[in-house]
Amino acid sequence: MRGVRHERWQRELGQRITAKQVFRRHGELAAAKGLTDGLVGMIDAAYPIAITRHYAKRIDWSNPDDPLLRIVFPDAEELRADGFGDQSGEWISTRKTGVPGLQHKYGPTALLMVAGTCAAYCRYCFRRRVVGTENETALDLGAAFSYIARHREINNVLLTGGDAFMASNFRLAEILGRLRQIGHVGVIRLGTKMPVYLPSRFSDPELLRILESHSSAGKRVCVVSHIDHPGELDSQAQEAHAKLMGAGVHLRSQSVLMRGVNDSPETLVELFRGITDAGIAPHYLFQCRPVKGGTHFALPLIEGYGIVEEAKRHLSGLAKSFRFIMSHVSGKMEMVSVERRGRDTFAVFKYHQARDPRFLGSSILVTYREKSFWLDGVFGQPHQIIAGGEAAQYAITQARLLASGN
Ligand code: SF4
Repeated sequence: MRGVRHERWQRELGQRITAKQVFRRHGELAAAKGLTDGLVGMIDAAYPIAITRHYAKRIDWSNPDDPLLRIVFPDAEELRADGFGDQSGEWISTRKTGVPGLQHKYGPTALLMVAGTCAAYCRYCFRRRVVGTENETALDLGAAFSYIARHREINNVLLTGGDAFMASNFRLAEILGRLRQIGHVGVIRLGTKMPVYLPSRFSDPELLRILESHSSAGKRVCVVSHIDHPGELDSQAQEAHAKLMGAGVHLRSQSVLMRGVNDSPETLVELFRGITDAGIAPHYLFQCRPVKGGTHFALPLIEGYGIVEEAKRHLSGLAKSFRFIMSHVSGKMEMVSVERRGRDTFAVFKYHQARDPRFLGSSILVTYREKSFWLDGVFGQPHQIIAGGEAAQYAITQARLLASGN
């Protein structure tokens, strides 16, 4: 009997560095970072560890502070107890649909969790509560399609997880095909970090044919490529993106601002120039969510804002077209400006997306503490709201709802 033939990317998945190999292969480095075999086991049990061979080649293993190492290598800080399991209140969006794995996030936008795993596991992931499991993956696709078909206001669907491209070609073809039968769905987005973790996924001709056949003028497939550091954009990642473009796929980027990874204007300039030069439209730069097991990556917002603004001074209009966003439970808030008057620091946030459409475009002005990471005072006292009226009250109510569910 002939065995099942695996594509190269599938074989590479089987060769990843896992928790068991961390000490066998990189014991000295792990010890230098204060890790023991037991600690690595505890971290892996809470948040799975996997590093692709491709990504491992990009890491400077002689440098314990290498930014790419920090992205994927376990850290004892992950066992800290602070932070939230579901910082953005995704359960609220799922409760709205009543369909496990389907979130109705904002009026026009739905999220379908198509896979629970990833090629490698980011140590700061905001879905740490679920990645590596299929606990929140959509298994009843029929119910999901039927919800989307009934809700004519949904005009774009984000396929996510985990990593959307961990789903098999068969599953992706079925999902894309069924969504294309729903007339009011235009753009279908796929969220992924596979172009940098496992670029060989995009050398699979069958996958490219599937994407091409569902992406056309007026009904575009868009891949949102997750890139955090310029060192991730090597020639193979560039090639993976070029193949996606060749299949008629529109490309956008998302990045997370993180301590020890990209927290300098110079690194951000290099990152966003690299993204733009690769033909990818810079879309979002996220404030790192203070999620349980990942709080050590978060920068105080004021500090982060200063770094981002300094970087923008050196970027072209295209390269700085991204928005600096805090994914608050009440909506996506753009950090618009920071002003210092006397001893007070004021910050202005604006709803780029809002769960309640009445607040779309509304601004909130708060006095802001230099060391705060978020709006809710997760790490300290609530901030004093100066202006923003109903929108501010809404943000507070949603934050309380989130706290009650975590
Ligand atoms: S690829 Fe995305 S979903 Fe997977 S671990 Fe990284 S951030 Fe989380």
